[in-house]
Amino acid sequence: MSTTHLGQIFHVAGSPTVFGADDALAWFPDGALVVDDAGTVIYCGPRDARPADDAEVVHDHGAAFLIPGFVDTHIHFPQTYSVDAYGGGQLLEWLDSCIFPAESRLADPAFAEQIASDFTVRRIAAGTTAAMVFGSAFGHAQDALFAETRRVGLRLISGRGIQTVGGPSAQALLTSERDAVDLTAAEIDRWHAADTGSVDTALLHAAIVPRFSLSVTTDTLAALGELYDDVRDRGVYVHTHLNENNRPGTGEIDMVKRSFEVDSYLDTYDGKFLPGSRIGGKSLLGPRTVMAHAVHCTDAELTRMAATGTSIAHCPVSQLFLGSGTMPWRRTVEAGVTVAAGTDVGAGDEWLISRVLSDAFKVHLSEPGDASVAIHPAEMLFTGTLAGARALDMESRFGNFDAGKEADFLVIRPERWAPLEAILAQGVRADDDRTARDQTLFALLMGLREPAIAEVYVRGARVTV
Ligand SMILES: [Zn+2]
Repeated sequence: MSTTHLGQIFHVAGSPTVFGADDALAWFPDGALVVDDAGTVIYCGPRDARPADDAEVVHDHGAAFLIPGFVDTHIHFPQTYSVDAYGGGQLLEWLDSCIFPAESRLADPAFAEQIASDFTVRRIAAGTTAAMVFGSAFGHAQDALFAETRRVGLRLISGRGIQTVGGPSAQALLTSERDAVDLTAAEIDRWHAADTGSVDTALLHAAIVPRFSLSVTTDTLAALGELYDDVRDRGVYVHTHLNENNRPGTGEIDMVKRSFEVDSYLDTYDGKFLPGSRIGGKSLLGPRTVMAHAVHCTDAELTRMAATGTSIAHCPVSQLFLGSGTMPWRRTVEAGVTVAAGTDVGAGDEWLISRVLSDAFKVHLSEPGDASVAIHPAEMLFTGTLAGARALDMESRFGNFDAGKEADFLVIRPERWAPLEAILAQGVRADDDRTARDQTLFALLMGLREPAIAEVYVRGARVTV
């Protein structure tokens, strides 16, 4: 038996790079998405051409849009209540004054349960079907996050936030060097592929998550490198921050280079964390490693990330909020690094990936000189869906509606958000189909807000609270 969803369908088909997203953009105004009982896509295309099935169950979504579920490659679960936290400063001050105190509250198990529940509710509302989630320092909070995510049926990659050094406001979040490794290893054993027992079919995956280089020591980095070497073959992930704030002297990047006496920030994650960027341990880079921000990378850093398959979570909303500058879009994607989208809640004050794509469009059009680029709507959709699946090394499983993929999708009803309905219904459209297609997708992505996301599906199953 199959289930057929009828609606207006957009997705980026095949396996293009961002440069090929325009040609790969599929639009079926009278579309059908056919899913089997296992939640696998059987067919996506014009509804009249779908394969005959006498037993098919049809959900006619009318004028609603069906698009792949959003992939958020960088979001902080313990900062659910810290969106729009006013610190009056940039990254390091904001961490000290707003974030470390907020994350310390998760020491209370009841609070941790509540925030895990609210985080999951917000994810469903924003249509974030897959997410790389920066975790809490507290094991019981991570247990609550994994358990709640499994209960509702979303995809999750997460790991406890690792800190072994920090100032007074971070004290509750710190562990010993030994506990940093032991607690992370225990979390991997407890939650990695816990839902199905197989990394290839699981919705839940574990990650090694040092907060950033300034929150750990060379001993921590060496120990985490050893741990990753042990679990890399089990499909475990690595997630952290890179090159976010470049304020001269007292900003994050200068502090990292001065503290570790390294040539580049990336070296600290690449096993080269000893003075002079000498090798001190194993690398944390690879195709299941995602670096958040990467705003101020050197050419050598971009080359190294591309060579190792390490991806970037691009978080322009957050970068605006903390005055971090702008990841140079053209230079970064031309370096061959996979660039996906991240909300970076709570430095990002939007939960919705399309709002991140909207800010990406604005900031990159505003880049100076030859760096200015008008990101194509297909590239926006690609960055928020298929590139996310690729950054999470699960492109073979989800990210678009190719036959054989697991059906993660959103049902968007424009009538539930009047400004979106108005621009879709009344906006001027070109006579040629391709331009009209691009205009419609752009309006959909720019005008989308949470109330219009009516239904969320992961692997063919409806996700509800
Ligand atoms: Zn972050």
